[in-house]
Amino acid sequence: MKKSKNLEDLIDALTILPGVGRKSAQRMAYKLLRSNKDKTLNLSRQLQNVLTDVVTCDICGVYLDKDDAEIQKSSLKHLCIGDNRDNSVICITESPADIYIIEENTDYNGDYFALHGTLSPLDGLGPEEIGIFRLQSRLKKEDIKELILATSTTIEGEATAHYIQKICQDLEIKVSRIAFGIPLNGELGYLDGETISHAFNERKEL
Ligand SMILES: [Zn+2]
Repeated sequence: MKKSKNLEDLIDALTILPGVGRKSAQRMAYKLLRSNKDKTLNLSRQLQNVLTDVVTCDICGVYLDKDDAEIQKSSLKHLCIGDNRDNSVICITESPADIYIIEENTDYNGDYFALHGTLSPLDGLGPEEIGIFRLQSRLKKEDIKELILATSTTIEGEATAHYIQKICQDLEIKVSRIAFGIPLNGELGYLDGETISHAFNERKEL
């Protein structure tokens, strides 16, 4: 039976989404074809926009619109976190998304740094790849008194936290680790707000 190659290509493309196998991708593709054309075109435009107009903040690693990143560069301030924050404390997460989770669920008032994942040598993810070298240069440049390690409690998350803790020993920076209430192998994105808030407030100094 003759199939549409364009439709098959869309189905293939959709399988890059997390948790989406071929069957779900097929369902999505058919749904998109049946949907209102303007809405589907809008989705395709938004996908293009994030790829061309969204950049990573040089300082903390969250995603910013290009225009805001330019303003930040020329103002020499860290605009992502806004005014009246404690710039001597940095909370380290393993993804930009985790920063928003902490921001929404705790009353933390310091600065942030998002790594790009966790150390995983077998996957070719070393300190440079996940952004630890960038973090190190930030720690040398700024007057940082405390780091809060909010990487997940997976083996990789723990290894990453341990690695950063060792770096801080030489720099005489106080390090604490969120842990309380977070189950082993816990990723922040799967936890409820109360658990995260508790884990954050009950963090232990390392
Ligand atoms: Zn930033």
